[in-house]
Amino acid sequence: MDSVTEVLVVGAGPTGLILAGDLARAGLGCTVLERRAEESNLTRAFAVHARTLEMLDARGLADDLVATGARVGALRVFGKLEVDLSQLPTRFPYVLVTPQYNTERVLEEHASALGAQIVRGAEVVGLRQDNDGVELDVRYQDGTLATRRAMYAIGADGVGSTVRQALALPFPGHSAVQSVMLADVRLSEAPEEVLTVNAAGDGFSFLAPFGDGWYRVIAWDRRRQLPDDAPVELDEIRDITQRVLGTDFGMHDARWMSRFHSDERQVPHYRVGRVFLAGDAAHVHSPAGGQGMNTGLQDAANLGWKLAAAVQGWTPDSLLDSYHTERYPVGRAVLRGSGALLQLALAQSLATHAARWLLANVVGRFVSPPAIVSRAVSGIGIAYAAPRSEHRLVGRRAPDVLFTSGKARESRLYKTLRGGKFVLLTPAGVGAAIGRRWAGRVDFATPADATLPMMLVRPDGYVAWVTDESAPASRDAALRTALTRWCGHPTNM
Ligand SMILES: Cc1cc2nc3c(=O)[nH]c(=O)nc-3n(C[C@H](O)[C@H](O)[C@H](O)COP(=O)(O)OP(=O)(O)OC[C@H]3O[C@@H](n4cnc5c(N)ncnc54)[C@H](O)[C@@H]3O)c2cc1C
Repeated sequence: MDSVTEVLVVGAGPTGLILAGDLARAGLGCTVLERRAEESNLTRAFAVHARTLEMLDARGLADDLVATGARVGALRVFGKLEVDLSQLPTRFPYVLVTPQYNTERVLEEHASALGAQIVRGAEVVGLRQDNDGVELDVRYQDGTLATRRAMYAIGADGVGSTVRQALALPFPGHSAVQSVMLADVRLSEAPEEVLTVNAAGDGFSFLAPFGDGWYRVIAWDRRRQLPDDAPVELDEIRDITQRVLGTDFGMHDARWMSRFHSDERQVPHYRVGRVFLAGDAAHVHSPAGGQGMNTGLQDAANLGWKLAAAVQGWTPDSLLDSYHTERYPVGRAVLRGSGALLQLALAQSLATHAARWLLANVVGRFVSPPAIVSRAVSGIGIAYAAPRSEHRLVGRRAPDVLFTSGKARESRLYKTLRGGKFVLLTPAGVGAAIGRRWAGRVDFATPADATLPMMLVRPDGYVAWVTDESAPASRDAALRTALTRWCGHPTNM
């Protein structure tokens, strides 16, 4: 056994890196074990959605990432059908187009600056757990084997997750699409739009910029369905792009090409004892809608503060169970949504063609797709179930409420959330004396909008508790109960 830490994270993809930052910010000893010896400059995701940007804002990272990419205010689904994002109630009413390696770089720098250890060339090959902790067998790049122990472990090790297999969990689902071709190319004619996409009867093509003159093309041809290891010719990609987009944009000089298949799968349990699964290790689906990385980052944001609270010993174990209860349905909905989008895009039957034509040419022209679509794709509409007895806002995303405070650092909710604590939104002075008894776990702020009810916001930006009660004695009693339930027993008695 070579060392002990509080939390071991397996995998330094986006999910593992954001978790490492959150755990380190909470003061936990956290080590990330990554199989690859070098950082990867291959990229898969390009789309960072509004809710993810809000989460990055709550870590002080959104502005850095936004500076690396291009903002797209409407997502073209196919033909004339667009999802308008510009009216979303957020500071980020767009999708940010930036290669995944930029997101990973920003997250890794943040995690390292906060003290997380990221060990590369460290492959996890075995896992055991007992009542007090988890042991991981690690094979290092030089071939040496060691065992590392921690209170908890997280499998953020992607679709082929060793952790998931070590837990003997199934990964039920099916193959969604075969023989999808990827290529990184130069273009002689730049497309007019940042993201260019269309689907026609026998295929689709999608182009996104890396921002440095290179473009990623994703293409699929129903007429040529080949195994993943079949070589890819740029001519194939040119041909399908020409057919579905009317031009191949003069693509040339491919520096990298690959063929892959995409599955739709989800693990039935996100938690097994002291081990959690997050990101692609827990759910995978087609790239349609650009949701995979976004969902993984949001899994991590849900889990990090709960795990920190558990290690610090001020929360019941049931809070850790709520990670599965809350995130499993979100993963399920993403699988269904991206699956439906893919089926529509790859439509073959006359009926589906007709539905697509109708959507693109009739519905799309006269009415915007309902706000519910943009809220779902952007993640702004995600909410967690709450008992009927709770206030209707409980479980919903807290908007970036402005404060009356003069201190710029604390002028709005998502800046205050950078402290990684709960935030009690309270009319001036009200409840603050009570809240101070939970100092260290709760920050306080007075919203500029005096009509807002008293509200406790979780560290991940979702509403924990709200009261409309105005009678001081009942309101204060309810506040004490809510703080004890969510933030443990008072720190200052
Ligand atoms: C073509 C394509 C386009 C996509 N576009 C988008 C998009 O626009 N938006 C979006 O949100 N998502 C998109 N996705 C999905 C997105 O790329 C993934 O959802 C995301 O990378 C998942 O992140 P992760 O951290 O969970 O896993 P990964 O990124 O897979 O990271 C897992 C890490 O774990 C490491 N690892 C694996 N096994 C071990 C082990 N045994 N020990 C130690 N380390 C290990 C791996 O080396 C890897 O670094 C796309 C996917 C594809 C294929």
